[in-house]
Amino acid sequence: MVSLARWISAAVALTGIVTVYRRWIHVNPTTVALTLLLFILVLAAKWGLQYAVAASIAATICYNYFFLPPIGTLTISDPQNWLALIAFLATAVIASRLSARIREEAHEARTRQREVEILFHLSRELLQTDNVTELINAVPSSIALVSRASTVLLYLAEGDRVYRGGDAPSALPEAAILKELMLLPAASRLEGGHRVAVPLRVGVKPRGVLLLEGVSLSDETLEAIGGLVSISIDRAQALEDITRGEAAKESERLRSVMLDSITHELRTPLTSIKAAVTTLLSSESVNVVDTRELLTVINEESDHLNHLVAQAVEMAQLDTREMHMHTSPQSVSDLIEGVAESCGGLISTRDIHTEIPHNLPAVQADPAWIQKVLCNLLDNAAKYSAITQPIVVSADRCGEMVCISVADRGIGIDPMEQPMIFDKFYRAQSQIQRIPGTGMGLAICRAILEAHGGSISVTSQIGHGSVFTFSLPVSG
Ligand code: ADP
Repeated sequence: MVSLARWISAAVALTGIVTVYRRWIHVNPTTVALTLLLFILVLAAKWGLQYAVAASIAATICYNYFFLPPIGTLTISDPQNWLALIAFLATAVIASRLSARIREEAHEARTRQREVEILFHLSRELLQTDNVTELINAVPSSIALVSRASTVLLYLAEGDRVYRGGDAPSALPEAAILKELMLLPAASRLEGGHRVAVPLRVGVKPRGVLLLEGVSLSDETLEAIGGLVSISIDRAQALEDITRGEAAKESERLRSVMLDSITHELRTPLTSIKAAVTTLLSSESVNVVDTRELLTVINEESDHLNHLVAQAVEMAQLDTREMHMHTSPQSVSDLIEGVAESCGGLISTRDIHTEIPHNLPAVQADPAWIQKVLCNLLDNAAKYSAITQPIVVSADRCGEMVCISVADRGIGIDPMEQPMIFDKFYRAQSQIQRIPGTGMGLAICRAILEAHGGSISVTSQIGHGSVFTFSLPVSG
């Protein structure tokens, strides 16, 4: 259709030029010849050689008939005019060939540039994910998007799976055919070029095949697309293997740190209990006061043991994401007040001030878990500050959250270590030996708060104390 329109336009233009010079503008034959030459060059540059050659012949005939004497015949009286005519035809054909070649080269360069762009965009798309499943699912649509293929089908022999991209639905070839196509030595055109099969390999072993419909890409680009897909699947697989290996190593490391930490922490209370019980059993002369003191030691140390075991269980739940929050609107003052008594342990011996504004909105929280957070923070404040120093619990609104702070005037935390104390089993280097602990408390607090949609942070200065602040979402 397009070519018919072009033939007609070329004929109309030639007729136009001849008519203008015959009827209205009378010029010498050289000017006519140059005008016709220009017309032929334009045709060659715009539409290619075939139009230009046909126009050259037609123009030569018209030039002879209408402009070279004797006018109105196809004969030429002056032999010089023969030369002029042949020169005109030769110039027209040579110039059209040159012009058409430039045009073809420009077209080829543009096609190559487009293909490079396709490969570039595809490599960027395929590098976006490190997850094999996600990648394989995304491959067909990414190829369809960048190459403008109407349908892309990816067949992987492993698991006999087929993935599709593009919008035009196409009949799925049978598995046996796909397996045959997979063995092709190189990208091949099927069904008269309508479909292209690009085999995918791992090394030299066939891995699958890509079927593309409605693309006009060179064989080299198709091969490059196949290579890119194979390499990106290999890369994602390798990355997944590394991550899995690292995760297994990290979990192994944490397990052994946990074991060390717990055995170390269990030993101290067990030793005290054992010593108290041995004293009680061995000497008959223990008086009532001493007996009471020893029983108090046993009681406190058993509580300590209990606390340790509870922390270890919470930690395990945290690892397996089994912490279930049952949140409901809670008054902040209800959450804070009375928590000191219910926590027991060191905190009961400390002076705790609370500063809670009356107009604080309720928060969305699971009271049992938030109580654990508060107990942990209060216990730390008591553990890491002198007994004479006060501990302050305050609350305030901060945007859509309520922020609750526990402040002490204790030993403080080195700024370098502040971001790490929320990691599992991390303990500040200066206290590892001096003050007992497992490094689990703050990790548990952070997990609980994140499960509530909140967060926890610390500001601290060595020798001046620490302020731990956590946030909970305002209810409703
Ligand atoms: P633990 O107290 O059992 O060591 P945590 O997870 O509760 O474990 O705390 C981790 C580390 O953070 C502690 O070892 C300590 O070094 C530091 N830390 C926590 N709270 C305070 C505090 N109030 N003052 C100073 N250091 C603190």
